[in-house]
Amino acid sequence: MPEPLIVVANRLPLTLRRAGGRWTAEASSGGLVAALTPVVQRAGGLWIGWPGDAPGDDPEGRAALLEAWERERGFAAVDLPERVGRAFYDGFANDTLWPLLHGFPSRAVFNPETFVAYQDANQRFADAVLERARPDDLIWVHDYQLMLVPALLRAAWPGLRIGFFLHVPFPPPELFRILPQRDQLLVGLLGADVIGFQTHEHLGAFRRAVQQVLGIESRIDAIEVGGRSIALHARPVGIVADEWDELVDSPRVREHVAQLRRQHAGRRLVLAVDRLDDTKGIPERLRTFRHLLATQPHWRRAVTLVQIAVPSRERVPRYAALRREVNELVGEINGAYGTPDWSPIVYLRRSVSRPELAALYSVADVGWVGSLRDGMNLVAKEYVACQREDPGVLLLSEFAGAASEMGEAVRINPYDTPGTAAALARALDMPEAERAERHAALVSRVRRNDAVSWARRSVADLEQAPRDRALSAASAGEPPVAALLDAFAAAPERLCALDYDGTLVPLAPRPSDAAPTPAVLELVERLARRAGTHVAVVSGRSRADLERWFGGMSSLWLAAEHGALVREPGAADWQPMRQGAGSDWMPDVRAVLDHYLARVPGSMIEEKEHALAWHYRLVEPEFGEWIANEVAATLGERLAGTELAVLRGSKVVEVRYAWANKGELMGYLQSRIGPAAFLLVAGDDATDEDMFARVPPDAFTIHVGAGRTAARYRVAEPAAVLALIAALAGARPADPLAAGALDAVGAQAAGRRERTARTRT
Ligand code: UDP
Repeated sequence: MPEPLIVVANRLPLTLRRAGGRWTAEASSGGLVAALTPVVQRAGGLWIGWPGDAPGDDPEGRAALLEAWERERGFAAVDLPERVGRAFYDGFANDTLWPLLHGFPSRAVFNPETFVAYQDANQRFADAVLERARPDDLIWVHDYQLMLVPALLRAAWPGLRIGFFLHVPFPPPELFRILPQRDQLLVGLLGADVIGFQTHEHLGAFRRAVQQVLGIESRIDAIEVGGRSIALHARPVGIVADEWDELVDSPRVREHVAQLRRQHAGRRLVLAVDRLDDTKGIPERLRTFRHLLATQPHWRRAVTLVQIAVPSRERVPRYAALRREVNELVGEINGAYGTPDWSPIVYLRRSVSRPELAALYSVADVGWVGSLRDGMNLVAKEYVACQREDPGVLLLSEFAGAASEMGEAVRINPYDTPGTAAALARALDMPEAERAERHAALVSRVRRNDAVSWARRSVADLEQAPRDRALSAASAGEPPVAALLDAFAAAPERLCALDYDGTLVPLAPRPSDAAPTPAVLELVERLARRAGTHVAVVSGRSRADLERWFGGMSSLWLAAEHGALVREPGAADWQPMRQGAGSDWMPDVRAVLDHYLARVPGSMIEEKEHALAWHYRLVEPEFGEWIANEVAATLGERLAGTELAVLRGSKVVEVRYAWANKGELMGYLQSRIGPAAFLLVAGDDATDEDMFARVPPDAFTIHVGAGRTAARYRVAEPAAVLALIAALAGARPADPLAAGALDAVGAQAAGRRERTARTRT
């Protein structure tokens, strides 16, 4: 049984118009509607969007019509006051975001007022969802007009399953960063559980923007934020191929095809179908066609270009200028090269019916997609799907998302006029065998990856969401403070193993900056002085660092270098956890690391007694990760079969003895101390997961910060760990030392109450 689906998109599939005192409903244009309408209809779902005109002369009639739409068709209307609608849609969405996301920052208009309208409109869409959604619904939000909606929904109803799909490109991060509202838009998207893009290129650009703008790192397929895992997918949108098949085979279209063939007998037909939009490269195409006629005169009277330009966003000034430019070019070319019985360009500035379009797609010898930038371009796929025997050639811009899937098309750079004209001539002259071979490969892919499979896969991605969230949330609740205190009080012997960096103190860009405050030192010491309580500070740091900060506390266990070296309470000396650990391997490894030190600005080498580490916290993040992979691989190969291991930590690659890890250390501590009824283990990074894995399941294991963990509990930051230590150490809330730390836990609990109150069930 498919789960109920709610699609949220700027427009409904039907647009209301008021003319001559009557309401009419037109099918909305554009790729999104074409791809999604059949999917929602098949799922029996709900589509939430803007319904079109509201001229105000028949509000009752309009309301009744919209009610019927929702009841009978599942189309739920979001009305926007005209002022908001214009500033949101014509303004921020189409005057700012559209050109910027398509990589034309100089065409983008930056007006802070239109963003206010964008926020307002996004809130209205979110409210419309919240009025109708039920807990099990899958909410699927679409496109650049609604980038704030996922976070608005998440804030109001944290348990909802929310997907977002970006139909347009995501630009390179250095362009995206131009947007003054870049932070809000990214945070808006990160409210989703799943974010889909048309191509891997767009997905990668998004990840880099999130890294550069919000400082959040990600994996190739996921971003961890606030304990939630957001899945990232490249899912190119497809067409409903069956519907085009039916059309092409229908008597009406066949008749139309025969008529077109008669009309254009003896001439080749080149077809272009675009919205009249400045990303589609229409003037560039016209200039290219002019170039062909000027430089290869044998094509005059032998080829006709049919350019369909569907009117779009007519109120945006940029579009009026484009309309004029195209009119002039068409007039000029037809005037210069036309003859009484032949016009080089047949220009239709209107939309055409689907049967008419199917007929044109079928007869055209060349389908020409010349987008300067395009999320996908469905026309490319529709042209291929409608071609039959003796197929034509698809000329496809390398800047359309479709190019990443349609390698057998003739690729063009639409900015290169002579190059594209040559490609067009080649397409017109291409032998049938080559055309058939290219077409066969293209058409099978277009059919396999059609809109239905796109929607099915996307919805399946979204259905995965709760399971993923449950996984990270089940291991990630806040610690039960009262139960923890009771268990501590009841246990005769207790062991508390505490990581240092990121657990007792916040991470700092330079390790030397992360010294403990006196308050931290005193809280740890107080805990260690409680009878029957063994406290171990377990760190990846050198013994010198730990000695400097904790050396004076004789009641503590100290473990340096991930447990390679241990100082027992009261002991003056440090001992290796295992005997026989030497350092004769170091010069060899150091030589490798020196090579990378010289190559990577901002990296540094740390020499420990039993380990060598290469840090890259200050290196440009993506470059750093990339080189770190290489460092780890090079060393891994070199050290295979030795007692040494190469480990990846947070912004560090480290070589040390395989046994020198915190998990082994937990075993060692337990064997030295004896059975402790109460076990508390706190840590923040991958090396601490070894400790969590080494203790019984009922131990109090606490992970600090976001990210996946095997720990039972999660706190947001070191202050919360300190608050717990303060409580265990018996510090009173009034005690100035504990007050700050306890406030942190109080704030966390208050945040939870607030979120719970806003959660609808
Ligand atoms: N289309 C239409 N009416 C027309 C001509 C085309 O509805 O008169 C459809 C066309 O079949 C295609 C869509 O509009 O499905 C255009 O999608 P594309 O991805 O090429 O561009 P977009 O308009 O989304 O930028």
